[in-house]
Amino acid sequence: MQVLNRDEMDYEIEGCSLRDVINFNEYLVLKMIREALKSDVSLCRCSLCIEDVFALAMNSLPPRYIQITSLSRYSKSESFIDEEAVREKVMEAWKKISKNPGH
Ligand SMILES: [Zn+2]
Repeated sequence: MQVLNRDEMDYEIEGCSLRDVINFNEYLVLKMIREALKSDVSLCRCSLCIEDVFALAMNSLPPRYIQITSLSRYSKSESFIDEEAVREKVMEAWKKISKNPGH
């Protein structure tokens, strides 16, 4: 299997760009990782730990793909996962990785 990076992925199908369909949880996980690093200086900043926390947190959450233009509709829907719930998953991931770091 060829491993691509995001920039090499072709999101264009039949003239339709799928770049505007995003997993909103990814946005929130990135935000919460930055918040955690800001508020806790003891967290390891190496790229392996940050990548592990990102992957672990993302895998612990169900995907929430939305069109970026429908964010306000999604935020009012029953399937909405709020910042607090995502923060919890990110903190769980930090705890796990801090106990058993891959670096
Ligand atoms: Zn580390």
